[in-house]
Amino acid sequence: MKNVILIVVLSAFFACAKREETPGVGLANDVYTEVPLRAIRPEGWLRHQLEIMRDGSTGHLDEIHPKISNDNGWLGGEGDGWEETPYWLDGAVPLAWLLQDSALQRKVMRYIDWTLDNQRPSGYFGPITKAERELSVEITPDNCADGEDWWPKMIMLKVLQQYYSATEDERVVPFMTKYFNYQLQALDSCRIGNWTEWAEARGADNVMMTQWLYRITGDKNLLTLAEKISEQSYPWSEWLGNRDWVMQAAAQQNHDNWMHRHAVNVGMGLKAPAVQYRRTGDKSYLEWLATGWNDLMLLHGLPMGIFSGDEDLHGNAPTQGIELCSITESMFSLEKIISVTGEVRYMDALERMTFNALPTQTTDDYNMKQYFQVANQVQVSRGVFDFSLPFNRGMNNVFGLRSGYTCCTTNMHQGWTKFASHLWYFSNDQGIAALQYAPSHVTADLNGHNISIREVTDYPFSDAIDFEISVDEAVEFPFHLRIPSWCAEGIITINGEEHSRESGGKVVVIRRAWNDGDKMSLQLPMKVTTSNWGKNSRAVERGPLVYALKLGERWEKGNEPTEGDYYSIYPTEDWNYGLIDAVVKDPQANTQVVTRKIDNAFKWNIEHAPIEIQVPAKKIPGWKAVNGVAYQPITDRNGIYKGEVDQEVKTITLIPYGCTKVRVVAFPVVP
Ligand SMILES: [Zn+2]
Repeated sequence: MKNVILIVVLSAFFACAKREETPGVGLANDVYTEVPLRAIRPEGWLRHQLEIMRDGSTGHLDEIHPKISNDNGWLGGEGDGWEETPYWLDGAVPLAWLLQDSALQRKVMRYIDWTLDNQRPSGYFGPITKAERELSVEITPDNCADGEDWWPKMIMLKVLQQYYSATEDERVVPFMTKYFNYQLQALDSCRIGNWTEWAEARGADNVMMTQWLYRITGDKNLLTLAEKISEQSYPWSEWLGNRDWVMQAAAQQNHDNWMHRHAVNVGMGLKAPAVQYRRTGDKSYLEWLATGWNDLMLLHGLPMGIFSGDEDLHGNAPTQGIELCSITESMFSLEKIISVTGEVRYMDALERMTFNALPTQTTDDYNMKQYFQVANQVQVSRGVFDFSLPFNRGMNNVFGLRSGYTCCTTNMHQGWTKFASHLWYFSNDQGIAALQYAPSHVTADLNGHNISIREVTDYPFSDAIDFEISVDEAVEFPFHLRIPSWCAEGIITINGEEHSRESGGKVVVIRRAWNDGDKMSLQLPMKVTTSNWGKNSRAVERGPLVYALKLGERWEKGNEPTEGDYYSIYPTEDWNYGLIDAVVKDPQANTQVVTRKIDNAFKWNIEHAPIEIQVPAKKIPGWKAVNGVAYQPITDRNGIYKGEVDQEVKTITLIPYGCTKVRVVAFPVVP
């Protein structure tokens, strides 16, 4: 009885979500279509993570970050009118609706309303330009040079698209139509790179929004516009497919063409082949994407699932790291790539990035972030480290709200929120698909039936995922489930009876008539394995999580006059261990896994780490930090460090990488 009441309440609470996009003639169909934002609710640890963000900087950035709080350009003022306000909204808007938080909705609505209410008669939108303010000109396609940078508008379009996906506000579609008409006419004289090269580097995001609108309105001008923007933007698809680009990036860290190697641009550019495939139907684009992604991770990949970039691509040594914006933008690209391609490799990659690289780079309260994280990060402090972009004040590695560069202060909010809104997709065969896993709830209209599915799990900290299905009456629909590539055999059980066993690396489709109260369980057994990284280092993995050395932390507060309060973090224990050879030969037999259930107060830190892996290791006395950098000990051809090693075997404890702030993740191997 209790369940029935709960379902009735939930059905009333959620607006019923239908597929909002119909495939348009002139655009290749996506394999999976996004479920509207209003249909998804995070639960469990994921909801808690989003609540932390609401109570922290995501919910309050307009009060604590001067660029947003002072006379904001996106509210008609003379303050920031460039990227940082739209960046913040790009995460705050989905958060406000995922949590159904009316206070946050009211906050972000001020910016959305101002933007919608202040579109110029020509279709141009955004902050009042210098020419408008000083010369009272009216911006039209003929005097488009009096307008300003295309780039921040690309972000605001993503904000408005998500807002529409949450509310179906009828102002959004005509607003975008009018703007795209303006853009189509203006681009001949004001090319995409007219104001900044950032816009030229990031045109794929602009194209993606024209495609979204085309699927709603079918307006053929949008196809012409997409072609024009593509012609004027960086040719990411060719670069990814033509291996010369990624090899040049591995060989050079100089000033020439650095924008082509800028890791945030690269993360955003990953979606370009997917949007070009949609536009042309040419499958070579998807092959170029696969080649480019593999090359990037081979030549620049780090164990936490992202390529290096400081700010430019910088090879695969474990002393390299990555800017937070590159993670959140790469995640967003993968979420779109998954929709277009339906390929498991990108789903696995998205989870690896989300559950490992993302959480380590913010504080427990989501009020501070790191501009650059390092894979083997044996201290967090001011300094130059192994970065090619030191900045004068050496603040790139510490935790602060405004330390490093503040793009990440504002762009870090889309990571978790968009991951939550991309857990579920519609499939082309009129079904539903769970392609990434985390506790959540989805409602949808499938073939005229209102269905509701609750995903109950502690994944990625548990290998068990339960789906509780509620339907108004028995209804047949296909249910797509991903079996990750790392899983040898996933086990699917329906109402307590084994349904099938499935090998990893594919999406399984369960077709049956679903009854109200049906329960499907997916078990994804996780084994300890090791993977090979730069300088012959090894990382220990288990399922979607990568593990790093657990180290006590000493936090030290500092202040830098320009960049504000910050924290340095130092380990309170020795970190200079090598994994003994036997762990690599047989990780399963030589390690011990200790798990505990996560609680409701879960945070990504050492205290809350729900899984520990005990591993035998030996100390390497000569491995010491030089200016804060733990340069990797050199190994022989067999991957073994042959220098001086302590003979005593010690048991070290590894915890999920995302729970660490100081760590070693890429270990040398010792005899
Ligand atoms: Zn950034």
